[in-house]
Amino acid sequence: MFVKKDLIQVQDWINNSKNIIITAHKSPDGDSIGSSLALHYFLKNLGIESTVCHPDKMPYFLSWIEGTNDILTYEQNKEEVIDKMASADLIFCLDYNTPFRIGKMTQHLLDSTAKKVMIDHHQDPNTEFVDILFSDPKNSSTCQLIYEFIESLGQLEHIDNLVAVPMYTGIMTDTGSFRFPSTTAKTHNIVGHLINNGLNTSAIHENTFDTNSLSKLKLNGYAISEKLVIMPNEKVAYISLSSQELKDFNYTKGDTEGLVNRALGVNGIKMAAFFKEDDGYVKISFRGKGENHVNLLANENFEGGGHIYAAGGKFDGKLEDAIAKYVTVVEKYVK
Ligand code: 5GP
Ligand code: MN
Repeated sequence: MFVKKDLIQVQDWINNSKNIIITAHKSPDGDSIGSSLALHYFLKNLGIESTVCHPDKMPYFLSWIEGTNDILTYEQNKEEVIDKMASADLIFCLDYNTPFRIGKMTQHLLDSTAKKVMIDHHQDPNTEFVDILFSDPKNSSTCQLIYEFIESLGQLEHIDNLVAVPMYTGIMTDTGSFRFPSTTAKTHNIVGHLINNGLNTSAIHENTFDTNSLSKLKLNGYAISEKLVIMPNEKVAYISLSSQELKDFNYTKGDTEGLVNRALGVNGIKMAAFFKEDDGYVKISFRGKGENHVNLLANENFEGGGHIYAAGGKFDGKLEDAIAKYVTVVEKYVK
């Protein structure tokens, strides 16, 4: 995967670049934030500066991670991000497989003359716009890939706590706290190495998962008790929340993270979806298990994609129409 020739090339670009930018997908999650900051601090430990530029703000439950305040977003720092991208000589593309996953930053990325290096674990990467691709769809997370990248460079001694904390956070969130089938012995060995070097993992779990606001808890309780629908086939479940309902519970970004997994967790359920109404469109999360893959469902019907067991997409129109479409098409994908 990390071919020697490519590693030598990337190391050379790292050493000789003046303006290194680290990008990751929109609607940030633990893995996109974690991989960006892990790479940023690793480069810093080599004496090399870089800037993390993301399309939009991250959810508050990750804001405790050192360095998150320094992340520039197109949403909040548009001019600065555009300038940085225009003058970049090396751009890392982390945790996304197509330029369209960075929203309004896409055109700036495509227009940039910088060398582009993708490190990602999503299916079917679009390789046309990158110079070097490190893609491993079987890998648990981009954070695990960042570790393996650093390991392949022979630079593990440059992983200190500032690198290890975001790295562990991304591995933890993308594996559903080490539950999903993508979690391998290698994943645990990597974490073992981080722990041997002093990483406090329980503090990371606590900071990430035990800082819920009361309104978040109530929103999730309401969604499960009032809005969970099991389809007549008893294999598919979904939850939907309208913008009014979100408003009623003082919704802030990140409050519904993981909610779709509650629907998937019902005994006998093979596929689940969560519909969230936004301004003029509906954002959807898809989950599956066993033989029930959701990436094709997302791609063929909802302009999206992702992994076989976790994917996302959107629907332009009303919430009820998005649900109606899902209910119609899902039968084709569930086994
Ligand atoms: P989530 O449901 O947690 O937002 O996303 C699950 C997975 O699907 C993540 O790996 C995420 O990157 C991917 N994903 C979410 N939304 C989209 C989308 O609109 N398009 C694509 N291609 N992938 C998405
Ligand atoms: Mn990821």
